[in-house]
Amino acid sequence: MACGSKVGNQLTNASASVAEQAGASALAAFSTASVVPMVPPLLLDKQFSEFTPDITPIILAAHTNNYEIIKLLVQKGVSVPRPHEVRCNCVECVSSSDVDSLRHSRSRLNIYKALASPSLIALSSEDPFLTAFQLSWELQELSKVENEFKSEYEELSRQCKQFAKDLLDQTRSSRELEIILNYRDDNSLIEEQSGNDLARLKLAIKYRQKEFVAQPNCQQLLASRWYDEFPGWRRRHWAVKMVTCFIIGLLFPVFSVCYLIAPKSPLGLFIRKPFIKFICHTASYLTFLFLLLLASQHIDRSDLNRQGPPPTIVEWMILPWVLGFIWGEIKQMWDGGLQDYIHDWWNLMDFVMNSLYLATISLKIVAFVKVTIIYIV
Ligand SMILES: [Zn+2]
Repeated sequence: MACGSKVGNQLTNASASVAEQAGASALAAFSTASVVPMVPPLLLDKQFSEFTPDITPIILAAHTNNYEIIKLLVQKGVSVPRPHEVRCNCVECVSSSDVDSLRHSRSRLNIYKALASPSLIALSSEDPFLTAFQLSWELQELSKVENEFKSEYEELSRQCKQFAKDLLDQTRSSRELEIILNYRDDNSLIEEQSGNDLARLKLAIKYRQKEFVAQPNCQQLLASRWYDEFPGWRRRHWAVKMVTCFIIGLLFPVFSVCYLIAPKSPLGLFIRKPFIKFICHTASYLTFLFLLLLASQHIDRSDLNRQGPPPTIVEWMILPWVLGFIWGEIKQMWDGGLQDYIHDWWNLMDFVMNSLYLATISLKIVAFVKVTIIYIV
């Protein structure tokens, strides 16, 4: 845990330095103005003010990304208010929109512009990565609703993604990187084995953080996980690589049976390694396609004109694959939830394909039963 807190401190320092790097010192004038004891009364009049009333000091400081001023204000307990939803119908929103709809929209944009400031996220958020992910997602969604300010919102969303990526750039060792990418909101799971499942990376994928996932440090960790069982795989000769893949591919039935019988055994765990899993899956799918080809060519059937024929050996062999596909889809739906499952178009395609397999099998069974009964009768 000591290591974790140390990394945590480093992360805070890193986020601060990122924020400072990205920061501009354009608010120097503002900081000097704030210490002037007397403000001329004329400037206090809203009519003569340079800014609209929704621009509070912290929003202005966040717009210019001024680290020092934001830090001062945050330490004093000042925060940026959360904007209401676009379709909010509360009295405040309705009256503000009625008075001046342009100013209403602009004030929302101003708040989001402040919230997306790297310095503000670094100083006010306990979990800068999560805040950046959520904010960039929210801004992306907002750009679709507030069409008039689409480019502004998209730019802000991009800024948040870039911030998360810059923060990840600050990691210096594999240990730091692993702690960040495995980080979960519920800390109780960190010390357990399930804490090693790259939860934060999965979250980044869910929020479509391409910059974060494509960050070289992140990719390096993924590559080392991918070739877990084969250290130094990249340095090997291509012929050796091909032969290894080929042998693993040929052995996939043995591996699969071992995995089904004893998933926790050393061999069962070996198959679960991503690289091995990938080769086995590819080999398995190629075999399935080959069996489908055989079935469509009616190679093993002599009486082609007979109606409702009994299933051939090839058709029997195809059956476990179809059952496996359906089981896989059910498992995926169970793990990720129905909502996430439906959102992916590939899953819908899989669903249609599995339904067609099932329909074919059912029709064949019905035809076989009917013909057999007629023959018997
Ligand atoms: Zn409202």
